[in-house]
Amino acid sequence: MPAGFLLEMLSGQTLPLGTIYCIGRNYADHAREMNAELPSEPVVFLKPPTSATSDGGTIRIPPNEQNAHHEVELVAVIGAHLHHATLDDAHRAVVGYAVGIDVTLRDRQSQAKKHGLPWALAKGFATSAPISPIVPAEAIPTIDELEFGLEVNGTVRQRATPRQMIWSVGELIVFLSQWFILAPGDVVFTGTPEGVGPLVEGDRVRAWLGDVVEMRLDVAFAS
Ligand code: MG
Repeated sequence: MPAGFLLEMLSGQTLPLGTIYCIGRNYADHAREMNAELPSEPVVFLKPPTSATSDGGTIRIPPNEQNAHHEVELVAVIGAHLHHATLDDAHRAVVGYAVGIDVTLRDRQSQAKKHGLPWALAKGFATSAPISPIVPAEAIPTIDELEFGLEVNGTVRQRATPRQMIWSVGELIVFLSQWFILAPGDVVFTGTPEGVGPLVEGDRVRAWLGDVVEMRLDVAFAS
């Protein structure tokens, strides 16, 4: 088995990946397209660190799964220990940003929702968490205005700015730190905007964060 996943900073440094925290329904337009109510507090789930993959990698759809969806998301990288953080603590603790894809087995997630079961298989399978190289936070003073998005085979499927989020990056970190002890190398997938859709074998995916970083992945069925 490979050693632990290393987050690559654009500077060339690396940071061992810790816990992958994910937020659901953080954009009103995506909640609408899913026919889901707006949550009264952030919807939180986890992916195992071994679900991560990098720029140039392959999203491998598990056998007999027909409906793997892309969810492009802004990813915040934590650089400090945080517990019961203030908003100032949260802002200071973000060392960088990446663009990520929360690959989701939509049919399996829908079944889990219907039966009140966890989303772990739908959300946490191997290669379900592509993460781009990390841009240092100080290089992006106005993250709220930076467009991120995703295209499949050259067609744009999703694009948004973090300003459209219901809870900001700082607010999400404050919330998470009320429950969890965040640590250096942890990442937060901050939710997806509208435009989610299927990925099939042979697709070429490109995700970008402004003009500062991008990643490209192939899609294949897992053998
Ligand atoms: Mg998501």
